Amino acid sequence: MNFDLNEEQLAVQKMVRDFVANEITPNAKEWDINETFPMDVWKKMGELGIIGTSIPEEYEGSGMDFISHAIVAEELGYGCSSMRGTYSVNISLVAKTILLWGTEEQKKKYIPGIALGEAFGCYGLTEPDSGSDAAAMKSTAEQDGDYYILNGNKMWITHANQSDVFIIFAKTDKDAGARGITAFLVDKGTPGLSTLVTREKIGLRAQDTGEINMDNVRVHKDQLLGPVGRGFVVAMTALDNARYTVAAGCVGTAQAALDIAKEYAKERIQFGKPIATKQLVQQLIANAALDIEMGRLLVHRAGFLKNKDVRNTRETCMAKYFCGEMVNRVTYDMMQILGGYSFSGEYPLERMYRDSRINTLYEGTSQIQQLIIGNSELGMPAF
Ligand SMILES: Cc1cc2nc3c(=O)[nH]c(=O)nc-3n(C[C@H](O)[C@H](O)[C@H](O)COP(=O)(O)OP(=O)(O)OC[C@H]3O[C@@H](n4cnc5c(N)ncnc54)[C@H](O)[C@@H]3O)c2cc1C
Repeated sequence: MNFDLNEEQLAVQKMVRDFVANEITPNAKEWDINETFPMDVWKKMGELGIIGTSIPEEYEGSGMDFISHAIVAEELGYGCSSMRGTYSVNISLVAKTILLWGTEEQKKKYIPGIALGEAFGCYGLTEPDSGSDAAAMKSTAEQDGDYYILNGNKMWITHANQSDVFIIFAKTDKDAGARGITAFLVDKGTPGLSTLVTREKIGLRAQDTGEINMDNVRVHKDQLLGPVGRGFVVAMTALDNARYTVAAGCVGTAQAALDIAKEYAKERIQFGKPIATKQLVQQLIANAALDIEMGRLLVHRAGFLKNKDVRNTRETCMAKYFCGEMVNRVTYDMMQILGGYSFSGEYPLERMYRDSRINTLYEGTSQIQQLIIGNSELGMPAF
């Protein structure tokens, strides 16, 4: 077993860490307050090759491995969870899903723009009446010759309002449950496709979230992503990749919170000494350091399996479940160390705390991760 990063991975870590320190951390507060996504910074990341780190070179990426993919997500999570979220959706949920399931034509059309930071994609699975139970979706795709006619609504879709390509899941067979779902690639501007911005989110405020409405959206059969009836499997493979970068991003955010609290604890004097010398404060710091270390090991273990191209749903769910809960524990406890000062925008901890909440909710709630892990242990699905 080797816990060292190789030279290539270390170089990626340094480049992204420097970029985050210079371009992201100093501005994240302003993006959060103004609820704006920094498209100029994203494009710069594209030019530097950060976005396409784990995309093959033939599609304008750098062809690096899954550990490098996690490193980028962790470093972005350190500076701004909205940026990490955009990386997760564009690369893990969209580009890698097209890479796995798309035709060569589809890969050439969609992946390079996303890898270069010039195009955005979104993943439309969730609906008003179907979240955890995705197979209960109501959106339909009726065949009409060489075309499919899509109708329905999606909600909580990251990048709904700024995407160039939409991965849409809809029922081609209403009576076949999960086996009746098919995935489509829908281009921005297709008649009948409209979106609405979701406002007043508790966190990820710099990131676009929205609803999608499909009113007789006509899509050619060339835009099928994967075979008819295999959409549920397409959706689950996408989540295997996205949960991985969510987990890595949680490690980064928790590390940032710990670093802020450590610095503060050494400087804050109470009862005549730095609070860092108090045993109960050290306990909070020690537990956070251990939590982060365990999370990072789970992420890298999942990445190790992904690099070997073997089944890793169990290990990815373990990393996502643990890290999603862990970052909430750590940001909560690190706020405790800053006391009242943590409660205002003077320190970025309050944003990190708000941004962390989503990680037990999306890409499958913590309960859903537990059920997947439980099924892999018992061989008995609880769904
Ligand atoms: C900011 C944000 C961004 C998002 N981005 C996207 C996106 O890009 N694309 C997309 O498709 N979706 C997206 N989502 C949706 C997200 O994935 C769903 O919210 C999530 O899957 C949970 O679904 P739900 O909210 O409908 O909750 P529900 O499924 O209604 O769950 C409610 C509660 O019931 C529990 N529960 C449900 N079923 C079971 C069960 N069988 N056993 C035990 N407990 C259960 C859940 O764990 C949860 O606690 C996003 C959501 C948010 C908030």
